[in-house]
Amino acid sequence: MEDNISNNINLKEQYSQFGISVQVLDFCTGILDTLKERFQKIDEIAEYNQLKVIHAMQECRVSEACLLGTTGYGYNDLGRDTLEKVYAKVFHTEDALVRPQITCGTHALALALMSNLRPGDELLSPVGKPYDTLEEVIGIRESKGSLKEYGITYRQVDLLDDGSFDYEAIRAAVNEKTKLVTIQRSKGYQTRPTLSVAAIGELISFIKKIKPDIICMVDNCYGEFVETIEPSDVGADMVVGSLIKNPGGGLAPIGGYIAGRKDCVENAAYRLTSPGLGKEVGASLGVMTSFYQGLFLAPTVTASALKGAIFAANIYEKLGFPVIPNSTEDRHDIIQAVTFGTPEGVIAFCQGIQAAASVDSHVTPEPWDMPGYDSQVIMAAGAFVSGSSIELSADGPIAPPYAVYFQGGLTWPHAKLGIMKSLQNLIDRGIISELKINSVQILTNS
Ligand SMILES: *Cc1c(COP(=O)(O)O)cnc(C)c1O
Repeated sequence: MEDNISNNINLKEQYSQFGISVQVLDFCTGILDTLKERFQKIDEIAEYNQLKVIHAMQECRVSEACLLGTTGYGYNDLGRDTLEKVYAKVFHTEDALVRPQITCGTHALALALMSNLRPGDELLSPVGKPYDTLEEVIGIRESKGSLKEYGITYRQVDLLDDGSFDYEAIRAAVNEKTKLVTIQRSKGYQTRPTLSVAAIGELISFIKKIKPDIICMVDNCYGEFVETIEPSDVGADMVVGSLIKNPGGGLAPIGGYIAGRKDCVENAAYRLTSPGLGKEVGASLGVMTSFYQGLFLAPTVTASALKGAIFAANIYEKLGFPVIPNSTEDRHDIIQAVTFGTPEGVIAFCQGIQAAASVDSHVTPEPWDMPGYDSQVIMAAGAFVSGSSIELSADGPIAPPYAVYFQGGLTWPHAKLGIMKSLQNLIDRGIISELKINSVQILTNS
């Protein structure tokens, strides 16, 4: 046989089972051919981070006993205590708090803030408005139990129009009350650029020069393992995130982490459990295997999600839709935004992502009135872990500019299928003409 192995694998037939036409497959294959070098770079970063994680686990002597877990008070929980050492090694920090009792990313961030700030202190965000859910934590939007209620004030310096730091305004904003600076790495669902770790490092140095004892915290959500270094490698006193995003590798069913300076982590532990108890209590129940194995998988899972984001940016940009980040930009998080300009585009895209899921592929998401939003929102998520956004997921507010935000993909083939299915949906509904695919195809090949 002269045929190589890949010629014997009939992908067309497999994709046709999902309703994906030969035109769409050929178009997407053409796009993929242009991405080989970038994907190779992503694989190298994943390889680097995989070694970082394995080495940390070996250094901490992770053993079978660590996977067992405890109940009740959870005194001497070997698995929990060792995992926290592993996280501290991976992030190059003095200590870490990694717990299933931290319910989500917002909780982890609120915990880090509330435990390290005291009445009379001021919190500063030098990178503009923080993630939506933090508005209530801080008290930007009135809420029970906010930092504001406890007499902690807040100041914000927006990024300049070109996305860079407003150093003059930051210098002016730092005062004798400024105790903690919060820096959000990912753009989240805003249109500002995501910050590279290097840029975060420059910002931290600048702030520490003005006032050396300021605690610099980084909201690391969606950013873990995208680069070979983390914000804690460039001066952050705390990095904080969710285990149902990148570092949980799709396996962690719950949880959050705070890695950083020993005193900061200790404060957080006393707040999470109780003064006097701190890290000593908190049974790990049965989640340790998923926390360890999830962290082990996280570098390659993050790489899969990144490939999906870049693949989609290239497809939709070629077809004339605005994409953020664009097709060639360096990536610092796993979120991709595509602006369709019509409600139908947003809906078709999200329904395509859902149709590619392993769980709940037979249900069709529809726009609904989600609490806390002024417009309807459509969400696609066929996830093994409810709400997990390291799994392939998408959502879009049904409001101008009619953009979808999507992220995740535990494996690259799944991310690829989801994106192709979204494109097929847009074509089947006449939102993108088949003619367009064919004409762009010619350009790609020339
Ligand atoms: C997801 C996210 C959060 C909040 O995490 P939840 O787990 O949804 O509470 C905070 N900041 C950023 C940048 C995020 O992406």
